Amino acid sequence: MAQRQFQTEVSRLLHLIIHSLYSNREVFLRELVSNASDALDKLKYLCVADEAYKNISFEPHIDISFDKEAKTLSVSDNGIGMNEEELADSLGTIARSGTKAFLERLEADAKKDSNLIGQFGVGFYSAFMVADRIEVTSRKANEDSAWKWSSDGKDTYEIESAVRDTQGTTVLLRLTEDGLEYANRWTIEDIIKRYSNHVAFPIYLSFDEKEWDDKGNEKGSKKKTERINSGTALWRRPKSELKPEDYDEFYSQLSRDNEAPLLHIHTKAEGSLEYVTLFYIPRKAPFDMFHADYKPGVKLYVKRVFITDDDKELMPVWLRFVRGIIDSEDLPLNVSREILQQNKVLVNIKNASVKKILSELKTISVNDKEKWDVFVSEFNRPLKEGLYSDWTNREAIIELVRFKSSAVDGWTSFEEYAARMKADQKYIYYISGGDEKTLKASPLLEAYRAREIEVLVMDDEIDEIVVPQIGRYKQSAGDASREWELKAVNRSGADEELGDKPDSKTESDARPVIEKIKSALGGRVKDVRLSRRLQDSPSCIVADENDPSLQMTQFLKAMGQGNIPETVPILEVNPAHALVAGIKDTEDALVIEDTAGVLLDQALLVEGVKLKDPADFVKRLNRLLARK
Ligand code: ADP
Repeated sequence: MAQRQFQTEVSRLLHLIIHSLYSNREVFLRELVSNASDALDKLKYLCVADEAYKNISFEPHIDISFDKEAKTLSVSDNGIGMNEEELADSLGTIARSGTKAFLERLEADAKKDSNLIGQFGVGFYSAFMVADRIEVTSRKANEDSAWKWSSDGKDTYEIESAVRDTQGTTVLLRLTEDGLEYANRWTIEDIIKRYSNHVAFPIYLSFDEKEWDDKGNEKGSKKKTERINSGTALWRRPKSELKPEDYDEFYSQLSRDNEAPLLHIHTKAEGSLEYVTLFYIPRKAPFDMFHADYKPGVKLYVKRVFITDDDKELMPVWLRFVRGIIDSEDLPLNVSREILQQNKVLVNIKNASVKKILSELKTISVNDKEKWDVFVSEFNRPLKEGLYSDWTNREAIIELVRFKSSAVDGWTSFEEYAARMKADQKYIYYISGGDEKTLKASPLLEAYRAREIEVLVMDDEIDEIVVPQIGRYKQSAGDASREWELKAVNRSGADEELGDKPDSKTESDARPVIEKIKSALGGRVKDVRLSRRLQDSPSCIVADENDPSLQMTQFLKAMGQGNIPETVPILEVNPAHALVAGIKDTEDALVIEDTAGVLLDQALLVEGVKLKDPADFVKRLNRLLARK
């Protein structure tokens, strides 16, 4: 029997599991039961949807047994099963991309959060927390041969031919000394009740019950089997019967997240469409939220039969962090997974679900500060994606996104900004294209600060893309509605409210200086102008109203997008500043060039733009400093 090598990532993961995961070890049982339940779901679906499986007589169930003397614990199901190839694929490799990054994160994480393991969907391997050898015997439905996979969780595993009467899988754990505590009837029952009570199939536990004679002496023991879970589809039960713990337990089983969810939204729709949905918002963003191949979190059931958990269309992409189930009465059981997207019933359920989730979030944002803060810190960004991509829900989403601000600490909404606004303020101002610190220190903000005009600080890369697209913020209160245009302060047209234009005398006084700077800088600037925005700083750059910002151009280039034309900035100067005024009366070309160069480069630097020729900047600066 040949030994096969685990994929490198699996070896690394197993090493971590065996050597560093000690907390919450009991979740291994939840993982094995969840896998068994998935396997039953899959076969149940095939039995209704696929002719080839129609003759399988099938009473789905999960069996757990243990033997303290032999130091074993086994979890068995009569589900879809695995053949030789699938055993090697499923229990020897991890197919998902991002595995490497995940492992690095886990290896770096001092706490070695076992929660991450479950979320990543490597649940099976977690059994090596309590076992030093695992044997998986499986027979695939509609196939004749059975196979046994076994491994000590180090670097290799074996697969050999085996015997199994019916389809399904048995996972046998050879428990470590430490793991022996799980070979106990009450421990198992307790864990199942806590994590897997609402698995929709019966879970049976076999154990030895001691028998006593009339005199109270032990006369032997008898094998007994008892069902240990309630096994109803939780979401089908009336809300009034369900306790918060029930919802949390179901969430843990569904999402394999050890932390309780932030909130749940349980909805029963009756009328033209009948369905039940139960959605959860996690407390922590799923680790793969920003991976292109993220695992969707919503499962589709039809009349309680599981259909799929791999359809990204069940939720809009921007709500990909939502976990839960949709159970429809109106879809046919044999609905083809391929054409689900075009199904009218499903489209309606999805639209209603998104609206429901948004309205719950709105409620939380008003009523529950603690929860809302958690939500914003984890999910503000995907919400902004929604602003960009989901036109129909834009008005609801815009009330939920949050930004930093020049006027207040923490997060703020457009609504709050509008409430603080001066009565005659024409625009909502924002600054973007850098981290919070850089943006807050930008000279562009000086004049707004001086006039107590609040500026939203948009320090998230995605803001640069999303906000120009939103364009306006509209507020409706009763019949009245007010609307403001959003203006980037680093745009040429955003200084309208910063006092009067320089008068003609200031203008004509400054003209020679402006001309000198302009001709010294040549093609590096689009224009040189007198600034209304600057108080203390000598210069700043702005982008022309219709150009992308410099930071945006830099960002797109960094993302590998070629063909981005350079954005040429407009340089604004403060005529009152000594550096600018200093070249008024000189004709020394080098001094003018040095001053102009420094005025531009320092304005670029403060905005976090990388200089093309830092050495040139330093040279000019030193010459200017040495001149005195
Ligand atoms: P996940 O369940 O998140 O995919 P696991 O590591 O727990 O990750 O399992 C890997 C794969 O092994 C599963 O996706 C499934 O294909 C297969 N598998 C595990 N347990 C069973 C089982 N009892 N019956 C059938 N297939 C199983």
